[in-house]
Amino acid sequence: MKQHELIVIGAGPGGYVAAIRAAQFGLDTAIVEKEPALGGTCLRIGCIPSKALLESSELYQEARHGFEAHGIALGEVGLDLKKMLKRKDAVVKALTGGVGSLIKKNKITRYEGHGRLAGSGKIVVDTADGDEKLKAKHIVIATGSKVAPLRGVKLDGDRIGSSTEALSYNEVPGHLVVIGAGYIGLETGSVWLRLGAKVTVLEYLDRILPGMDAGLAAEAQKIFEKQGFKFRLGAKVTGAAVNGGRCTVEVEGLDPIECDRVLVAVGRIPNTDGLGLDEAGIEPDKGGRIPVDEHFATAAQGIYAIGDVIRGPMLAHKAEEEGIACVERIVTGFGHVNYDAIPGVAYTHPEIASVGKTEEQLKEAGIDYRKGQFPFRANGRARALGQMDGKVKILADAETDRVLGVHIIGPRAGDLIAEAAVAIEFGASSEDIARSNHAHPTLAEVLKEAALDVAGRAIHY
Ligand code: NAD
Repeated sequence: MKQHELIVIGAGPGGYVAAIRAAQFGLDTAIVEKEPALGGTCLRIGCIPSKALLESSELYQEARHGFEAHGIALGEVGLDLKKMLKRKDAVVKALTGGVGSLIKKNKITRYEGHGRLAGSGKIVVDTADGDEKLKAKHIVIATGSKVAPLRGVKLDGDRIGSSTEALSYNEVPGHLVVIGAGYIGLETGSVWLRLGAKVTVLEYLDRILPGMDAGLAAEAQKIFEKQGFKFRLGAKVTGAAVNGGRCTVEVEGLDPIECDRVLVAVGRIPNTDGLGLDEAGIEPDKGGRIPVDEHFATAAQGIYAIGDVIRGPMLAHKAEEEGIACVERIVTGFGHVNYDAIPGVAYTHPEIASVGKTEEQLKEAGIDYRKGQFPFRANGRARALGQMDGKVKILADAETDRVLGVHIIGPRAGDLIAEAAVAIEFGASSEDIARSNHAHPTLAEVLKEAALDVAGRAIHY
């Protein structure tokens, strides 16, 4: 039996970062991963390949329709989908390979195979060469999440699939039906819409992007409709089937919808398959998540859990933060995650980004707030870019002026939100942002102006 001081199960963004932090502290650390490529869902079949395709499809769209306005005349623009997909695969390969190098550099022992808890401090890894028995004082579960099933819809791994299939369609579907108007549905739907597919989004709720600021989501929907997205809100999907290369989607109260492919994007569920939770004495909650205390400790002595497999949003950067905090707590006794300062970004066009509380949450909690808003169309850089859709909304405590939430829809919102996350982390007031100098002409000035608007002092609007 091989022994380590700390073993992480799962090499996604939460797991590999936790392992590196442990190695930095000098712990004899190992990581168990069943896939040959490290990086988890995010790097292999999630965030990274989807962003690669979002960039490529946006360039294609721009080349077809966007350059003329800049006075740039192009000849006929063609699509080489095979090459686009190959480039995406190369981006993934470079990054997963990079994680492999980081693991080596930090002298972390890697075990390839499915890991299972096997009693106090013990793990069994099902490797290609048989069972490998391991022992550790500290075990961190970072096994992530998997696609949530939808009743009545059987994924066939091809025409009716999840985001995994939708990142590798070998042709542009004539008509793609997306079930679920969340992050995956809108991002992946954007890719195929830009490449020429008709995209119909079926959403059970009466709004898109649940959890995001409702006003921004409504504004986003209008922009997406202008781009060509067809939305059916309040649509309850009851079934989907493939018949001779065509798909039929059944929706309660509507005529069946015919299409070429179906993307099921109705959420993700924790992945605890074959993990041996029972044997370890850990009972998942009703949603299948592993219950943990504020320091990520499970009910079992010496076993911790982080990331998608525990409570909170299923986001790579949240998992990373938890991985670091969990290991720091184990080693130093201190470690903390500020869940109010974790941004969420939808990488659509324009991007939608958010950090802290929404107006709905503040109203529900009975917190008085002041609101400052500023549109991108009044910003010089946005005009120069030719991307004027969207706005920034800052919510500040009515009494203390402390920034409680920032919501952005507009160009590069995903990058701009970083300033807001830092402001919230530092307990800044809207006055602090308003009095911080922002370079001109930049998109970031929209944040400053929205902060000024909290006190009714915006200059350019
Ligand atoms: P999601 O929870 O964001 O959205 C799922 C959507 O499906 C919801 O709007 C829900 O109302 C709808 N839905 C559920 N059942 C339905 C039904 N029967 N018919 C029609 N609609 C239905 O989930 P997702 O988009 O699948 O993403 C999964 C996870 O991955 C999320 O937790 C998300 O945080 C994460 N993710 C994040 C990013 C990002 O940060 N940019 C990108 C992709 C995925």
